[in-house]
Amino acid sequence: MNAADSAEMMLNLSARGCVQTQELSLADIALVNTCTVRDHAEHKALSFLGRLAKWKAEKTGRIIIFAGCAAERLGAGVRRKFPQIDIIAGAKNIENFTNIIEKSRLFDNSGATRGTDRHTDKSSDAVALVNIMRGCSCKCSYCIVPYVRGEAYSIPPEDIFKRIEDKLSAGAKEIVLLGQTVNEYNYKGKNFSKLLQDIVKLPSLARVRYISPHPIFINDEFIQTLSSSQKISKHIHLPLQSGSTKVLTDMKRGYTREDFLQKAKMLSSVGIEISTDIIVGYPTETEPDFKDTLTLLDKINFTAAYCFKFSPRAGTPAALLTPLDEKILENRLDILLNKIKQSSALAYARQLGTMQSVLMETASNGRTLTNFWVRTTRNYNKGETIELKIKDVKDTILIA
Ligand code: SAH
Ligand code: SF4
Repeated sequence: MNAADSAEMMLNLSARGCVQTQELSLADIALVNTCTVRDHAEHKALSFLGRLAKWKAEKTGRIIIFAGCAAERLGAGVRRKFPQIDIIAGAKNIENFTNIIEKSRLFDNSGATRGTDRHTDKSSDAVALVNIMRGCSCKCSYCIVPYVRGEAYSIPPEDIFKRIEDKLSAGAKEIVLLGQTVNEYNYKGKNFSKLLQDIVKLPSLARVRYISPHPIFINDEFIQTLSSSQKISKHIHLPLQSGSTKVLTDMKRGYTREDFLQKAKMLSSVGIEISTDIIVGYPTETEPDFKDTLTLLDKINFTAAYCFKFSPRAGTPAALLTPLDEKILENRLDILLNKIKQSSALAYARQLGTMQSVLMETASNGRTLTNFWVRTTRNYNKGETIELKIKDVKDTILIA
């Protein structure tokens, strides 16, 4: 989601004559887009911001834009510690970025204040990210997202289609639909399944993926839709968070261990590969609760799991609970990561010898429809989909 927001802000800056560089020493503007979902992420962003003070002092006229979720959480008060910030664009205001920039009067709207080339969306990436929902109203007990991104709302289909068509005409072949609970999408009765059914009708679209669906919004209509088109990804990233019903209830996730298992089974039965997110050491997680997460991993063969130690976020209900000892968190994380490694190795080994349609994202790297990353031994055209045989596995890369 942050990558999509960064691209949106960059588009706006491009229209003002800015040209993107990854080389800080060449830059006149630093756009720092931040995450605050865990303390560690925010910490990294802030220490980078701290280092930018020196960069700013090296040349007059340099501008620092502090954007995203940490910017939203910290608000204007952040300037006391980081006076080098020129513009704050919090996560709730990304859609308002044009106004924020104009109000700052730091940019000359007639064109090239800082850069020389005017350019629009020339990006010819094979994969493009498109927001379909903003915010989140789920209020999981540990999560700061609803507070920094606001209540959930669905973007009107016309706007989504306009954005998708722009990306497709700029050369994209695959669209990734984004939302915190992306499958909760509903705009005046048009739900996520119906939206997907319409998107696959676009002739120049090769594939569509989506991140992150929530288990409670997985139903029969959705499963049928997934099976109805070869353009829809056969992979789902379905966050579990915990395998214990008690912890899931405390987290206010809205489903039980059994519900999750049942939905995962429905998905597997139509050939969908599943990856997940897990939080270890939620304050009420006992040793038996943690075991419940481990045993669930024996029942579902996840292709990957992103595992996080619980991080208390101020303002969320879970931050008021007494945290577990850091040693317990580390120990559980180690055990979990080991277990995931085995499960994911199995999932990768299953791919050996299979034929896969691979959508090339570079000349020699692409993805299967089931979202495995593939390296090819020959070069192909970016954006092309080719049938390839998987002949080897190197860690988390399939060799074709
Ligand atoms: N909307 C998605 C996830 C958004 S946040 C969903 O509902 O699953 C991405 C991931 O960060 C979450 O899935 C969760 O595993 C992790 N996360 C969120 N808050 C956290 C916290 N306070 N501590 C540790 N991990 C957290
Ligand atoms: Fe956070 Fe829960 Fe919303 Fe995901 S669904 S963003 S975890 S509150």
